[in-house]
Amino acid sequence: MDFKVSGFVRKAFELFAEGDKSFTDISEFLVKMGVTKGNGTPIKIKQVRQILANKFYIGIMKFAGEYYEGSHEQFIGKDLFQSVQGVLKKRDKHHAKSDSFPFLGVMKCSGCGASVTAEKHIKHYKRTNRKVTYSYYRCTRKQGRCVELPITSTDLEVQMRNVISDVAIPASWGKQWLEWLAKDEIEEKQNTEIKSEGLSRNVEATDRKLNILLDSYLDQVIDPDTYKLKKNELFENKFKFREEMGRLQRGESNWIEPMRNFINTAVKGEKIARAENNIDEIANFVKNLGSNFFLHSRQISAVHNNGFDMLRAPAPARNLLTCEPDHSLCVDSPGIGPGSLRCERSILPFNYEPE
Ligand SMILES: [Zn+2]
Repeated sequence: MDFKVSGFVRKAFELFAEGDKSFTDISEFLVKMGVTKGNGTPIKIKQVRQILANKFYIGIMKFAGEYYEGSHEQFIGKDLFQSVQGVLKKRDKHHAKSDSFPFLGVMKCSGCGASVTAEKHIKHYKRTNRKVTYSYYRCTRKQGRCVELPITSTDLEVQMRNVISDVAIPASWGKQWLEWLAKDEIEEKQNTEIKSEGLSRNVEATDRKLNILLDSYLDQVIDPDTYKLKKNELFENKFKFREEMGRLQRGESNWIEPMRNFINTAVKGEKIARAENNIDEIANFVKNLGSNFFLHSRQISAVHNNGFDMLRAPAPARNLLTCEPDHSLCVDSPGIGPGSLRCERSILPFNYEPE
């Protein structure tokens, strides 16, 4: 490859790696450098993209429709190439997203259980000679006939916003809950230590019993059958204690982190539900909720997991969760650390007012 051209291509890579240059910018840069398609016309955007993604397999580089011999190790470093691939990937993702239907894959049809697909439909109003594009989501009807009606993208977005509002909490609640959680975390650590010590004492005690048992057997105080039976029982206990210790050490009983994520997500939801023009964010949020969504009669219903159903309860019903009469809200969430978040410490004052 021409030494000069290879230099310009490297420069094009460097420019693109900055992240804010479009394919057109790169094409224009190359025109300025005199790199064009033979007859002087600029290299097309599609070709710029190809150049930037070209891996120079077997040392051959295809450039502007022609093959050149070259070693990409020599004129473009691996790091530069990788960062360009990163920018390309981001671009593609963004493009695909903005062009498609962000809520695809989120819902199922409630009528027949089939998945929900999305479509764009252009309607031509003859009288006013106006074309309007409708995009909507509908049952794929892959399970056979289905009478469920489609929902427009706009309606769906509004409803999804409401879904998020229902599981969201104000930042001030989140702050308070996180403080309680931090206290619980300290207590939990102490509990773990106490439990762990208790378990190792149990193991020691069992070992002592096993020794006594063996002595009794050797002294012929107990018969072989009783010895065997008792020994098995003690071994089984010891095994259980050891297992429990292992679980504690691996932190398997740790519910703090999931709870913290839960609170942070709920706080984030508050902002996302209120923001404007953030359909991708809305879609990502509902995807990450890990909930199940169903489409029925143009309405979305959500079946929440991970404790979000507790937050979803409408205001009057939330009072039913109260553990004590002078508190208005309890967030003890089944499925996140059963019984670990004690109600009397995890409730908001009755006179609490959201911001
Ligand atoms: Zn259906």
